[in-house]
Amino acid sequence: MKHLDKIYINGEFVTPHGSEIMDLFSPVSNEKVADVRLADEMDTRKAIAAAKEALKTFSQTSKEERIGYLEKLHAALKAREQDLIDVMVDEYGGASAFVEMIMPYSIDDFKEMAGVVKDFDFEPKAGHSKVRLQAAGVVGIIIPWNMSNGFICTKVASAIGAGCTVVIKPAELSAQQTQVMMECIHAAGIPKGVVNILHGTGPVVGNELTVNPDVNKISFTGSTGVGKTIAKGAADTMKRVTLELGGKSPNIILDDADFADAIPKAIFAAYLNSGQACAAATRLLVPAKRLDEVNAIAKATIEQAVKVGDPKDKSVNIGPMVSRKQWETIQGYIHSGIEQGATLLTGGLGKPEGLETGNFVKPTIFTNVNNKMRIAQEEIFGPVLCIIPYEDDADAIKIANDTPYGLCSYITSADKNRAYELAKHIDAGRVCINNVLHDPLAPFGGFKQSGVGREYGVFGLEAFLEPKAVIG
Ligand code: NAD
Repeated sequence: MKHLDKIYINGEFVTPHGSEIMDLFSPVSNEKVADVRLADEMDTRKAIAAAKEALKTFSQTSKEERIGYLEKLHAALKAREQDLIDVMVDEYGGASAFVEMIMPYSIDDFKEMAGVVKDFDFEPKAGHSKVRLQAAGVVGIIIPWNMSNGFICTKVASAIGAGCTVVIKPAELSAQQTQVMMECIHAAGIPKGVVNILHGTGPVVGNELTVNPDVNKISFTGSTGVGKTIAKGAADTMKRVTLELGGKSPNIILDDADFADAIPKAIFAAYLNSGQACAAATRLLVPAKRLDEVNAIAKATIEQAVKVGDPKDKSVNIGPMVSRKQWETIQGYIHSGIEQGATLLTGGLGKPEGLETGNFVKPTIFTNVNNKMRIAQEEIFGPVLCIIPYEDDADAIKIANDTPYGLCSYITSADKNRAYELAKHIDAGRVCINNVLHDPLAPFGGFKQSGVGREYGVFGLEAFLEPKAVIG
């Protein structure tokens, strides 16, 4: 049993003033595995004060110094890579094959940002003036549980590159991962107060970061609902906000695609991180005339290639859901799909046989789904895929854009030019052609209610900078 009773402020591991204790449970067994002592508003204010003090010098550092810190962070995380992977698999039940694939990308965010900073002009000219792109200030970083340490890497890399100081509040359910991250950051030897990390809840620590006048910016990743609360709370002090929110990504399979290849790939794109991913391709749009063929390939893929089970097992694609509550939410959506008349192709309510103790969901596919149904409009955040038939390309675009979200989208076609043409009409911050793809230097972020602002590369760095014109 782990007792997590320290937070990280001003370069030191300290006992929180807050005294509330929260229990943490294994998603595989639902047994208690740890407890965490949560920070309160006083702890948060102490962390903000440390970040504000550190900003005085850190915001004035040269880009060469900051590149040095990014390299140190990269090395410190690389040294603990296996620990970071293991704790994620244990804590939220991420399938080990997936976590092992994704964690190196996250750690490399520091290396990628070092390259971006090296080439970035922090004092460009505009008209006859000099523009100084300076640190946005003290940044409150608030993140979800699904890839907690990955989000810390992306956001902290940009913040350090820009000369900002940060107070990080990961999700309560990520306390064990957060603990390892605190140790890595401490080991990297970053100046004290530049990075502070708190275990705490949204309404207490998250809210204090949002309303505190000494915080200049909030960089948030999480649900659209909480994103709206943060945007409203941040407005009083006119904080800058970057909001990376939910998604309901369409995956359009064009009629010229190789269906035998595209449909299995589409299922794995929907079940990314066991379906607990903002970028999951949860709406599969297929030509209506070929629905039967799609259904047959989808069913066979689930039977032959998708394995649910112990996330430590390398052959497992879908681990348990993070919590009992999340499992219940997903069951509610499956129930609503059945009630609203979608055809259940495979999966459904309840737990897979032999996996009754954990938060396991049957990989579920609904077919012949109407895009107006709740399962097609709302983010489920579990392994539930909707197959939606379309008549022609124009109809596919209309359906793809018909949700409040606009984070990611996917197009599969034998003709890349046709896919690029279609991509122009999709309202989403990212369009991947012919597979799930990642580019660490390409902007990531949402259209519509999927968010405000962009992360990664130059776009991510600029989000942590304020331009100041010096004229004369
Ligand atoms: P969530 O919105 O419930 O929580 C996210 C964070 O916000 C947590 O740290 C939580 O404690 C905090 N929070 C809650 N209430 C708050 C308040 N009143 N003030 C300040 N902070 C508060 O999200 P979750 O359930 O942890 O994660 C899943 C969601 O995250 C999904 O909607 C998913 O799409 C989204 N997400 C988006 C991206 C992206 O890059 N766009 C990536 C991953 C996850």
